[in-house]
Amino acid sequence: MAGISLRGIAKSFRDTPVLQGVSLDIAAGEFLTLVGPSGCGKTTILRILAGLETQDAGDVVIGGTLVDDLPPKARDIAMVFQSYALYPYMTVAENIGLPLEMRRLSAAQRLPLVGRIMPGAATTRAGIAADVTAVAEGLGIGHLLARRPAQLSGGQRQRVALARAMVRRPKAFLMDEPLSNLDAKMRVQARTEISELHRSLGTTFVYVTHDQAEAMTMSDRVAVMMGGRLMQVASPQVIYDDPQDLAVATFIGTPEINTLPARIEADGGLSVLGARWPVAVTTPAGAQATVAVRPEVLLPAGRGEAAIRIAGTVRHVEMLGAETLVHLRVAGAEKPVVARVEPAVGARFRPGDEAAFTVAPGRVMVFAADGR
Ligand code: ATP
Repeated sequence: MAGISLRGIAKSFRDTPVLQGVSLDIAAGEFLTLVGPSGCGKTTILRILAGLETQDAGDVVIGGTLVDDLPPKARDIAMVFQSYALYPYMTVAENIGLPLEMRRLSAAQRLPLVGRIMPGAATTRAGIAADVTAVAEGLGIGHLLARRPAQLSGGQRQRVALARAMVRRPKAFLMDEPLSNLDAKMRVQARTEISELHRSLGTTFVYVTHDQAEAMTMSDRVAVMMGGRLMQVASPQVIYDDPQDLAVATFIGTPEINTLPARIEADGGLSVLGARWPVAVTTPAGAQATVAVRPEVLLPAGRGEAAIRIAGTVRHVEMLGAETLVHLRVAGAEKPVVARVEPAVGARFRPGDEAAFTVAPGRVMVFAADGR
């Protein structure tokens, strides 16, 4: 188990900056997820951590050791890829045992690095077989050891890849979208399994995904990346409830957070769609702003006076089983405003109806023109 630090990491590919001064401290035993849109640089960070790519500037420290000049093997961290990278002609047992087998062979040839690279794991044939069986059984694939990858389901292949990473007892796991080849149902199940695995191993996990639900459900902390920079690093709840800027607020949450254009009046008050909203703002007067409201904080308006009302015409009612999304066309808003309500509440709305929702002032986020 080891903490990981990235210090001012920069990387360009053919003069195009891909990472721009990324600094991040990951605690020993933490589950940290890098999340962000495609191409924002997540995989490049993992590859730099693993030693598969060299940064142009900055340092990587793993377990207190500067590893910039160490090759991937000597970093003692395991990487699980999206593709699983299993060898098709080997059995499951051989695939899982491969890292230990390679170490055994190089030990037999008395290669000098060996003892340092993977301390603690088995070095004899019998020891390797016992380790492989124990890890496979722990992951529920003990009965599949004689099969080849082609004879496995996607979920089983993913577990074989995990087992192969675990058998080395690495200091940390790096996982690059390991669930993206699974169907939606399997993905949800695998999320739970990976969380349990993390809890039982207590090892540092650095996980990459563009799926924010994965990031939110499994992680101790989430690092939101955009355009090669870290936008916010915090617990899933803080990222959701208190995003540092509009881009993070919009990226996290499904359906997407509702946004409406707003203006800060001369007296410092907030005007939204021509109405005053009693929300405290720090943005200077005269400035354009954006208010943002999560779909679940919109409540159907009752008869009484409400401090904040959003009214419009129901455009679409989307029944999802456990919840219903009411899409409201609101004059002055670019996109429909979406409310997430209980099915019994949603059943009251029909397309074409006039409808109004209220929001508690404390649930309104205000972002200045620069998104902050
Ligand atoms: P995704 O979610 O799509 O995997 P990502 O956030 O992991 O994206 P990276 O794979 O880190 O993004 O890539 C970041 C950027 O760097 C992309 O624009 C990509 O095209 C570019 N890139 C990555 N590797 C190379 C390379 N070896 N040569 C040139 N450009 C590269």
